[in-house]
Amino acid sequence: MNDFRWRYSLISGISAYLFSYRLGGTYWFLGFHWKIQDSFTSSGNDGVPVRIHHVGAPLQSTMLYRAGRTSTYPEEPVESGIRFHFLGGAGEVGNVGCVIEDQSGTKVLMDYGLAPTKPPKYPSEAPSIDHAIITHSHIDHIGMAPWLVGHHGTTLHGSKLTSRLSEIMWRDTYKVSRIEGYPLAWDKRDLDAALEAWQEHDMGEQFSIGSWNAKFHVAGHIPGAVMTEMDVNCKKVLWTGDMDTRSSPNVSGALPVKCDILCLEGTYGGKYHPDRSEEEERFVKRVLDVVSRGGVAIIPAFASGRGQDVIRILHDAAPHLEVHYDGMGTRVTQTWMDCPELVHEPKSLRKAWHWCRRVRSKSDRKKALDADVIVTTSGMLDGGPAIWYVNRLRHNPANAILLTGYQAEGSGGRMLLDERKLPIYGKKTPVDLEVTQFSLSNHAGHKELVEFARACSPEHVIIFHAEREPAMALATDLEPDVKVHIPENGESIVIE
Ligand SMILES: [Zn+2]
Repeated sequence: MNDFRWRYSLISGISAYLFSYRLGGTYWFLGFHWKIQDSFTSSGNDGVPVRIHHVGAPLQSTMLYRAGRTSTYPEEPVESGIRFHFLGGAGEVGNVGCVIEDQSGTKVLMDYGLAPTKPPKYPSEAPSIDHAIITHSHIDHIGMAPWLVGHHGTTLHGSKLTSRLSEIMWRDTYKVSRIEGYPLAWDKRDLDAALEAWQEHDMGEQFSIGSWNAKFHVAGHIPGAVMTEMDVNCKKVLWTGDMDTRSSPNVSGALPVKCDILCLEGTYGGKYHPDRSEEEERFVKRVLDVVSRGGVAIIPAFASGRGQDVIRILHDAAPHLEVHYDGMGTRVTQTWMDCPELVHEPKSLRKAWHWCRRVRSKSDRKKALDADVIVTTSGMLDGGPAIWYVNRLRHNPANAILLTGYQAEGSGGRMLLDERKLPIYGKKTPVDLEVTQFSLSNHAGHKELVEFARACSPEHVIIFHAEREPAMALATDLEPDVKVHIPENGESIVIE
């Protein structure tokens, strides 16, 4: 986007924000002129239920902000107990940011992401803060960290892998915002500053944040994802981030940690996953059926997590297949292989990765049309090479599209499931291919979340990263043994 359009978007954004602010504190975005093409999800939101908003429709809490203007964070210090204040990620999936503070004056921001919706959705502005813990590299947890560093000089704490993946994620976010004309609250100078702001910590290593001790544990969601244990005001707090207790091909499952206050992600509250190995078998069988009838199996998958899982599943179960990989996952996977201690059976990942054929050029892409299987981004068919492949392969009914997870409202994958159509280069196009959906999620389901929470034996559970209904389902199963809190964005919970 040229400078004029960028400035135009910026000025329009600020004007709309000021206008909506005057409407009484509910932020409504009023019909912008952004050109919508591909999605914002190419950078690897991880397939969790995120609502995608359409431009022109009323949209809450999307805004541009400047330091000191819009933070919901209270100005008064904490008198006693521990305060949890959600800037985003309460009552919703993604867009996470929560400030934890006690009366010692120590405070930390847990994650600072943006929801990769259209246009993206930001958490409320963070207060001035010295420390942030970034649980993992998905954009709904890491996307706004450059703003934080650029405006407050915050130190970012994370695993080695999260820190090393951040550059890929931020540069992609920046690039997509430019292509699609979305205003982003940070610029390249903030990005460069953020790359210098990391403090990497190993799993199990003790480190201090102000007057607190902290320690990372494996969260089981993607390689490098952490749960954070903190000693705060004589209480043990565990923040799960996105987590799964089930092992997946690339990461082993999270183990419970005894704590007093458990901050639990609840994405899949009330929803039960099928047995993981049975689902993998069903998936492989479907791939083999498609190939045996002479078709190509197109498998849309996220760049950071699902794509690598699919490659490993196919390498283990059907090494005779010709599998091509196309998308940003190549750089992500290389970074994973540089941190083998954070990957489950890293040698097998290396083997599987070298076994599949990575698409590097236009001619590689054409060759992939004759493959048995194409694994490609984006995972929800909102753009990326997946659209190109579907467009080229949609006329042969022997071909199939195998979806590996949830398809959000408003996504291309959702339209395909509901209407058998897909937006292809701006045009809603019929796609008469077999479409089969599988559940290869790397978030704990209801049963795993409840078992995990009980095994941590906390007094309090705060459920975040969940819409209201899933959070209530978890509360129903956990109470009355523990006190369950279901927070709202912009409000504080104080636990004595
Ligand atoms: Zn995630």
